[in-house]
Amino acid sequence: MDLTPFIRDVPDFPKPGIIFKDITPLLGNAKAFTYAVEAIAKAHTGKGITKVVGIESRGFILAPPVALALGVGFVPIRKPGKLPWKAIREGYNLEYGNDAVEIHEDSVTDKDVVLMIDDVLATGGTMEAAIKLVRRVGGTVIGTAFLIDLAFLGGGTRINSPVFSVMRYT
Ligand code: AMP
Repeated sequence: MDLTPFIRDVPDFPKPGIIFKDITPLLGNAKAFTYAVEAIAKAHTGKGITKVVGIESRGFILAPPVALALGVGFVPIRKPGKLPWKAIREGYNLEYGNDAVEIHEDSVTDKDVVLMIDDVLATGGTMEAAIKLVRRVGGTVIGTAFLIDLAFLGGGTRINSPVFSVMRYT
């Protein structure tokens, strides 16, 4: 299935010079959304995954259906100050600014085999920081999955783990 028609390019959002990949048309179409979730789940079936980690904000939309398709739990990585329990933090540089991410220190253990999910891979900074968090709490990251890889930005080279993407822009 060609998902390209379901991705809307929004120029200069949220800052001048950024072409934002708006995935809401895809989410609004059951066939396209199902196709994307199943593509990620199928590529990671039989790999012993025990947790799917999603990164706020749009990773929260994709990761839970993939987790349920794989029959495992979902773990959120959130922006600072949002998690209610004991959390650890990693800072990073974003395509448009600086930020940090946090994970509950008991949400992943050294017995967990983890698939990491976000909507878009741009510079790779967000995923790099998220992987560090999972490794700091003892988890084994066996792969990362994205709806979209903005491959021309080279984010994949920054990520020290296999990268799967449903769509790739070169
Ligand atoms: P990065 O850390 O540079 O790989 O940026 C990835 C994060 O920023 C993801 O969580 C994306 O949701 C968001 N992001 C970065 N660039 C874009 C873009 N051009 N369109 C949509 N989302 C983006």
